[in-house]
Amino acid sequence: MTQVLSETDLLGLIQHGLKDNASARKKVLILGAGMAGLSAADMLLRAGHQVEILEAQNRLGGRILTLREPFAPGLYGEAGAMRIPKAHPLTLAYVEHFSLPTFPFTISNPRGYSHMNDQKMRLDEAHAAPDRLGFDVAPAERGKLASDLWDEVIASFARRVEQGGQAAWDEIVHTHDQYSVREFLETLGWSEGLIEMFGLFNNQESMMNSSFLELLREDVGGYYTDLVQIEGGMDRLPRSFLPQVKDCLRLGARVVALDQSPDEVIVHYQTYAGRFESRADYAIVTLPFPVMRHIEVLKPFSRPKQRAIRQLKYDASAKVFLQFRRRFWEMDDGIYGGGSVTDMAVRNVFYPEHGRETGRGVMLASYTWGEDAQRWGSLSPEDRLHQAIENIAEIHPQAFGEVEGGASQMWHDDPYAGGAFALFDPGQQTLLHEHILTPEGRYYFAGEHASLAHAWIQGAIESGLLAAHTIHNL
Ligand code: FAD
Repeated sequence: MTQVLSETDLLGLIQHGLKDNASARKKVLILGAGMAGLSAADMLLRAGHQVEILEAQNRLGGRILTLREPFAPGLYGEAGAMRIPKAHPLTLAYVEHFSLPTFPFTISNPRGYSHMNDQKMRLDEAHAAPDRLGFDVAPAERGKLASDLWDEVIASFARRVEQGGQAAWDEIVHTHDQYSVREFLETLGWSEGLIEMFGLFNNQESMMNSSFLELLREDVGGYYTDLVQIEGGMDRLPRSFLPQVKDCLRLGARVVALDQSPDEVIVHYQTYAGRFESRADYAIVTLPFPVMRHIEVLKPFSRPKQRAIRQLKYDASAKVFLQFRRRFWEMDDGIYGGGSVTDMAVRNVFYPEHGRETGRGVMLASYTWGEDAQRWGSLSPEDRLHQAIENIAEIHPQAFGEVEGGASQMWHDDPYAGGAFALFDPGQQTLLHEHILTPEGRYYFAGEHASLAHAWIQGAIESGLLAAHTIHNL
């Protein structure tokens, strides 16, 4: 079984490495060079084990993807991870380990716009007079913001967890795992209008049918407060591992089949030159489960593991970027960082906080999840840019005259991810989590999906460290 370590222990691993327990040096294959694979490789290499990393793409980082093309020099768009909360010490420990400079990520800016029901107003105006937004709320809810009421709900859960620790969490999982977000809001007696306001402003509309626990864990954990970003792009984090792993990293090697005997693992992979195999004592599989679905497993995994690979729900996510020749949102509208919230197809807009010295800017014109994201996927890449500029011009009419180009990323269509991130359906934490983690013979599992910090770098690192620690101690 993969061992459980406290956060302090895990931090100690990043800072000081694995304890030398004088166990035999092992050969370990790591499948995937995202943050889970890289942190596992870091641990094992530092402890003197022999490592080989097989990565299908010709870059490392996986779902950390900083797009520098097709943008003007000095500009980029974060197609994957873009922010790190102070509540994620493992991610920040690696940022510190590699001496990467950070600066604040503005999550919300009162100067940003709300554009709902064809009405545009600044976010601070919307917050001051929620009734002007026109949601069909119950009389008792008038004048109230769904997000303020939500904060009260979260505060009461946070108090329970603060007082009861892990036992309180276990109890909450026991009593609330079956709830979707919508079902939980209904238990609070919220009107449909208030639920709609919450869905739009808290970006939950497309996740209403997902497990309530996913949202609760993020909000109680403070995952959206006090955030930073890496200066020069988030991909500097995975790239910082390169000097250490370059000799054991095989890029362009797509794993196609897994086999094992009582003594070794045999991993078959495909390159442009044909099919090859690598053998080792153990393997750490960090491939997202939608990808695992298409990998041949010659000695079949246990039924519970097969079920977990089949059933684990992954969310969709789309990002659409537009490059503008002038930063009109700053110069004309006085918006420095943060975003605007809309009910249009773009849904959430984020204003860039880098690249000011160029005079230009790459706006994250649309960041969506779930159903909102699927709909972007059905448009051609060209049409995504046309649709995005039309929506952005509703908020910023100057956009038409200033747009220079753009790019988009659909994670649900990405062949190496097959989805944006694991997001439990109601009940899946109880049904599947344990089976996602369980090793299968000589195969150990890591990746954000093999943690409870789904959709965050923190989860990927935690799972990578745990898998490396377990194998080291075998
Ligand atoms: P991955 O990074 O997916 O690594 C898996 C690797 O396996 C990839 O490199 C892939 O190419 C490789 N692979 C796939 N198939 C094969 C194969 N057949 N053979 C060999 N290799 C293969 N986290 C944050 O902390 N902050 C954020 O702001 C944030 N925002 C996000 C926004 C989006 C849109 C997305 C999609 C994710 C975001 N995340 C964020 C989550 C974070 O990016 C991920 O949790 C983390 O990067 C996952 O790391 P991983 O190693 O588990 O998986």
